[in-house]
Amino acid sequence: MKLNDNYDNLEQSYLFSTVNKKVKEYAEKNPDKKIIRLGIGDVTRPLCKTVIEAMHKAVDEMGAQETFRGYGPEQGYDFLRTAIQGYYKKHNVDLCLDEIFISDGAKSDLGNILDLFDKDNKVIVPDPVYPVYADTNIMAGREVHFMNANGENEFLPLPDKSFKADIIYLCSPNNPTGATYNRKQLKEWVDYANSINAVILFDSAYECFVEGVEIPHSIYEIEGAKNCAIEFCSLSKMAGFTGTRCGYTIVPIELGKLNKMWLRRQTTKFNGVPYIVQRGAEAVFTEEGQKEILENINYYKNNAQLISDTLKSCNIWHIGGKHSPYIWLKCPNNMKSWEFFDYLLENAQIVGTPGAGFGKNGEGYFRLTSFGSYENTLEAMDRIKKLFA
Ligand SMILES: *Cc1c(COP(=O)(O)O)cnc(C)c1O
Repeated sequence: MKLNDNYDNLEQSYLFSTVNKKVKEYAEKNPDKKIIRLGIGDVTRPLCKTVIEAMHKAVDEMGAQETFRGYGPEQGYDFLRTAIQGYYKKHNVDLCLDEIFISDGAKSDLGNILDLFDKDNKVIVPDPVYPVYADTNIMAGREVHFMNANGENEFLPLPDKSFKADIIYLCSPNNPTGATYNRKQLKEWVDYANSINAVILFDSAYECFVEGVEIPHSIYEIEGAKNCAIEFCSLSKMAGFTGTRCGYTIVPIELGKLNKMWLRRQTTKFNGVPYIVQRGAEAVFTEEGQKEILENINYYKNNAQLISDTLKSCNIWHIGGKHSPYIWLKCPNNMKSWEFFDYLLENAQIVGTPGAGFGKNGEGYFRLTSFGSYENTLEAMDRIKKLFA
């Protein structure tokens, strides 16, 4: 047998292991100091009541002869797909059920979708960004071209029309920067993709953090997007499903063969999401469920606002925090990302994530997240004010 040598081309990621090692060392040397973690990339609020009730009910159904269920449809139960269809309708996007595919999360689908594309496709990925896009392509032996996201374009790169891409990754609201594309900017991407027959893989894992009408929740709010875009969504950040696992991917009928190919891929390699989880997910889209998840999202957003206001009062350049749980800041005094990490840990006992870990353009930047508790965020911001105000 021969191994897939492409794995040798992956860069080792030392980001979170180095963060943890440094924090552990500091904590051992300074046992009396309270360390506050604002680097958390996972939700912390529990599942909401309506979801738990729906899952309890589903557990009972599974234990009774009359209501027991075995394998479900690979692409998800109609009750959940119908609920998602209704959710899109709120943003004036019409989907038919055959375009909606339920999965165990956006990360798996983002990787699995590459089964549908030839190895020779040209791939463009923003830098910095969520590492999964580049890594899954490298595993498949594809060359990845990076587009620069930086202070000049406010971390929102637009199409370089001189380059003909085949597969385009976009993430908005963005992880790690919190930057969000507006309608006009997304229209540029859609027009570019349609003009060169490229596909946009649109990661909209944070759409539920978007507020108001300026920023689209779905790329399909943009005219022409159904002819070029696949959208990946997740209940992870939306409803605290990071450990429960459920997401959905939209493959429009307008994309022709791709829709049937994805169905074939899923029915061949995937056996569906647990019934119990899908009932929990369905509950998220009820009126009561939406009200309850919004309370959690608003809890995080309140933390984000506090962080953003504090940085503003200290004259620290930053973006995000508005339609996103992430705040992306420029390290004060031109410090490098890891330099600032050490400085913040030693002088304020705050842990964040060095921007350099998300790509070369992340150097000199730093990510804070709003997933901590309000009390800890407040205390951390008092410490930041003492250092920089
Ligand atoms: C958290 C996250 C996801 C969600 O992944 P799941 O597998 O659904 O938990 C997808 N994309 C980005 C950018 C994320 O940060």
